[in-house]
Amino acid sequence: MNSRIGRFAVAALATATATLGVTVANPSPAAAAMTICYNTSQAPSYASIANQAASIWNDATTNLTLTANCGTNLRIYQITGGGSYAQRTSLGNGRVYIDTQQAAQYSPLRIMTHEIGHILGLPDNYNGNCAILMSGGSAGTSCTNPYPSTTEANRVSSLFAGTLSATERSSGTGSQVFRDSWPALLTVG
Ligand SMILES: [Zn+2]
Repeated sequence: MNSRIGRFAVAALATATATLGVTVANPSPAAAAMTICYNTSQAPSYASIANQAASIWNDATTNLTLTANCGTNLRIYQITGGGSYAQRTSLGNGRVYIDTQQAAQYSPLRIMTHEIGHILGLPDNYNGNCAILMSGGSAGTSCTNPYPSTTEANRVSSLFAGTLSATERSSGTGSQVFRDSWPALLTVG
């Protein structure tokens, strides 16, 4: 009788342990984070700015990590004239162009985080609100805010988590070029 109780106790303990093991081993959700390797070899003047922008996005979002010079998901270029813009090929992949002339007028860090925002799935939102990163140059040259709003950051996290509907997801992940985010200033005289 004692051995029968003993066997029961051992079996019960094993069941409890197995249940606990499953719970610990499978935290949910189990989304795999995407590593976005960015390369600044073609934007030597803005490598430090790109690193700051990467940290801002990494701190504000989940399910993705921007990492410097481990590959070429995102190539960053510096150009002179023509305007800063982003060319997304797919979510987390593409090219960002920083216009050195615009970066002398607008905050270069805000330009960088904004343009990377396009690569991360965000559209423009020219509402003039400096608290909105994707308002870009519509907030004026005095706006230096480089941080995405909570809504913007959560949108990116959701896109990378793959939890949005196919329709919502397709609007943020397709191939698209985003230009004219930083209006040229009126020249005097
Ligand atoms: Zn833009």
